[in-house]
Amino acid sequence: MSENSLLDHALVRLDEAARHLNIDSDVIEKLKYARETTKVRLMIRMDDGSRKSFLAWRCRYDDTRGPTKGGIRFHPASTAEEVETLAFWMTFKCAVMNLPYGGGKGAVQVDPRKLSKAELERLSRAYIQAFARIIGPDRDIPAPDVYTNAMIMGWMADEYAQIVGETVPAVITGKPIALGGSLGRGDATARGGYYLVRDLADELGLGGNMRVAVQGFGNAGQYIAQLLAADGHRIVAVSDSSGAVIAEDGLDLAALLAAKARGKSVLDTVGHAGHQALDSDALVGVDCDLLVPAALENMIHEGNAGSIKAGVVLELANGPVTAEADALLEARKVVVLPDILANAGGVTVSYFEWVQNKQGFYWPLEEIHERLRTIMVREGRAISNVARAKGVSMRTAAYVHALSRLAEAIEAHGTQSFFTT
Ligand code: NAD
Repeated sequence: MSENSLLDHALVRLDEAARHLNIDSDVIEKLKYARETTKVRLMIRMDDGSRKSFLAWRCRYDDTRGPTKGGIRFHPASTAEEVETLAFWMTFKCAVMNLPYGGGKGAVQVDPRKLSKAELERLSRAYIQAFARIIGPDRDIPAPDVYTNAMIMGWMADEYAQIVGETVPAVITGKPIALGGSLGRGDATARGGYYLVRDLADELGLGGNMRVAVQGFGNAGQYIAQLLAADGHRIVAVSDSSGAVIAEDGLDLAALLAAKARGKSVLDTVGHAGHQALDSDALVGVDCDLLVPAALENMIHEGNAGSIKAGVVLELANGPVTAEADALLEARKVVVLPDILANAGGVTVSYFEWVQNKQGFYWPLEEIHERLRTIMVREGRAISNVARAKGVSMRTAAYVHALSRLAEAIEAHGTQSFFTT
């Protein structure tokens, strides 16, 4: 796979959506490229006194609809192309949900598990020192992503406050509650996907007692399993980076959550309550009604898409299905609820956090849940209607839905404004 193939694959969706809309080619030209991607080398002091450097990026892909918004990922395999692709998806995700944001993303090329807590804090602060002039509450608003969390966002918000000399909670979301974080952010991604599936269940042919398989038992994966299990659905298989477990009659979720809380793999539960080890690659082919990819990109590909037995795929991960696999699934009438809709609950509650920070007024949890449910249901139904009206997949419909909003905003800015705002 060539280095920039992830972005090329993402842009296929843009071209496809454009075919269903009558929009100016200038709009597509603007959306094909990131507006700005800044690359820096962060140099930090390690605990042993040595210095080590790490590559880091921040991409502001498009800010036509508002300040750019997107997480910061700490991952050893991060690249500029990955950051730009994730920022492209954020642009569309925010437009899908009608949030007043453009798309951005950031990353540090690092394996955070190899750093001590003090080193991780120094690295997080160094990121903000490097990008303080790029981010801002009305410019570019970071959040957590893979291997970053509320603690890291807290350090980053603190560093930003020290640099600008005042408290600016709205500069970053996903913060600890004590620093202005929102209630309901922890499970927001999974909860958004859950509200979507629940609302579209009849239309998708999903019954009351679903069999569910979850790929990636991390933040998003653990919460979706719990929300679905609470409604009486059976979680029959889950996986993490070490392996997978399966139990025909349903896994013991409490045991799995306890194993993960102890820092163990899901494999640690093998032998308990009928849990059997399963090859990680076999998880996507498990006999189930709903498959939830909640790990990393490109994990459902040409090589395994044919084995999928689920009728519906809920993409909680970003970009888990390759373009080739997508075509295979569409031909087999497997409905894919696309990432830019299915996992948009996270950025939506991040938006609520930003609004609350700007107002200095905080909402109760029930209000967060209800506002999230309203938006997920509204946009899910709108996209389902586009899919039906145009005879296209939910993914193409989501891109069409977002692109029409982006095109309207780009045109409203006036053509002389391109790249100059
Ligand atoms: P996480 O790090 O908490 O969880 C990822 C999980 O995937 C871990 O359990 C890891 O062991 C597992 N994993 C890694 N490689 C795997 C493999 N080869 N097979 C099976 N499992 C594997 O991350 P997260 O926050 O849950 O994010 C997961 C996905 O959801 C990412 O694509 C992320 O971009 C996306 N996402 C997350 C949020 C959020 O709010 N957390 C929001 C939007 C999208």
